[in-house]
Amino acid sequence: MATARVGASGASASASAAEAVSEWRVRLPEKPFKDLKYFGNLKAKVIDAGICSRCLTCAAVCPAPEGITAVDGVVFENWEEKCLDCGACVRVCPRFEYEPKSGLGEYLEILAARSKRFSGQDGAMVTEILASAIEMGIIDRAIFVGRDEAWRTTNFHLREIEQLSLKTLRGTKYCYSTALSELREAVLRSKGVGVIGTPCMVSGVKKLREEFPLFREKVKISVGLFCTENFHWEELHAFLKEKGVSFEKLVKTDITKGQFIATMTDGEVTFPVSELEEIIPSGCRVCTDFAAVDADVSVGSVGSAPGFSTVVVRSALVKEIIDYIRRNKYADFGDVMLKVVNKMVKLKKKREANIKK
Ligand SMILES: Cc1cc2nc3c(=O)[nH]c(=O)nc-3n(C[C@H](O)[C@H](O)[C@H](O)COP(=O)(O)OP(=O)(O)OC[C@H]3O[C@@H](n4cnc5c(N)ncnc54)[C@H](O)[C@@H]3O)c2cc1C
Repeated sequence: MATARVGASGASASASAAEAVSEWRVRLPEKPFKDLKYFGNLKAKVIDAGICSRCLTCAAVCPAPEGITAVDGVVFENWEEKCLDCGACVRVCPRFEYEPKSGLGEYLEILAARSKRFSGQDGAMVTEILASAIEMGIIDRAIFVGRDEAWRTTNFHLREIEQLSLKTLRGTKYCYSTALSELREAVLRSKGVGVIGTPCMVSGVKKLREEFPLFREKVKISVGLFCTENFHWEELHAFLKEKGVSFEKLVKTDITKGQFIATMTDGEVTFPVSELEEIIPSGCRVCTDFAAVDADVSVGSVGSAPGFSTVVVRSALVKEIIDYIRRNKYADFGDVMLKVVNKMVKLKKKREANIKK
């Protein structure tokens, strides 16, 4: 066990955040490549090995000025020189010592629900849970994933429920989010933070909480989305354009019953999702976690009637939020078809065949 003292500065941190310094006792992992710095080890074992999920948990903790960023994938320019060799990145990377997750995970309650206050991808329960958490005073910030005109993901730090009138915050964007690269700034500036992510991202959040007290204390809710796979924006954008999708007119993208559906203001483009097989990123091909088992609450569309979200409540705090939603009649509730969820869980587990032992 060694003690590392690391300044919490970074490209996206605020001036006051830049002054903050955290100190932690660390168990520095073994370097498989002894002559390389820790980022070099992450690069060799995860990024270059093609198993990086691009969750960007590493970017949440890298203390080097202009360190790990998320420009176009995971980037650390001149890491040989600039990496501080503190080991923070490999401590939180969910793929460095990869233990693939699967199953439905542990839960307190599983339900189908539809928000009466908000509209979203399915039952808008992701939005409802985080909005209720703000209303209850549990969090004062939630990092939502929005989008630009070309449907590139953007990050939005929601501080007040009224900000949810921004339509671009709603719904699923089938490309990688960089939300975790802003989580450090969020925890330094807030009392309580909510974050939304795909299974790999919430596994990263779990590691952050295990390794760093600051994240343990401040990240109150991690919402995991059910996920089969995600895509690189460049590749998906080019593919959809080829299919005739006009991004100026695009209002919703969805994958349902094996079909990718792009809904535009003047029509729809639909095609079998299997056509996207070629552009499934290598990091997703080794992922076996459909249900985001490391989240405090997982939300998806399968298992519920159209217009409802399937909600898997895993933490006592989220249970309190669901009870609050019930008491206030903020949502309609229904039944979950567990068989359907389990079918997807099993299907995704088959990807373990792609993991090199
Ligand atoms: C890449 C991807 C694949 C998915 N695959 C499946 C699947 O196979 N089966 C299934 O049942 N469900 C899947 N989902 C989840 C589903 O599409 C809905 O997001 C979920 O049902 C929540 O719906 P809602 O109406 O409750 O959410 P909303 O209330 O509409 O909120 C959804 C929130 O998710 C966040 N978000 C959007 N895109 C991203 C992103 N790329 N990364 C991180 N956060 C994001 C936004 O902040 C948004 O506010 C997937 C989601 C993603 C992002």
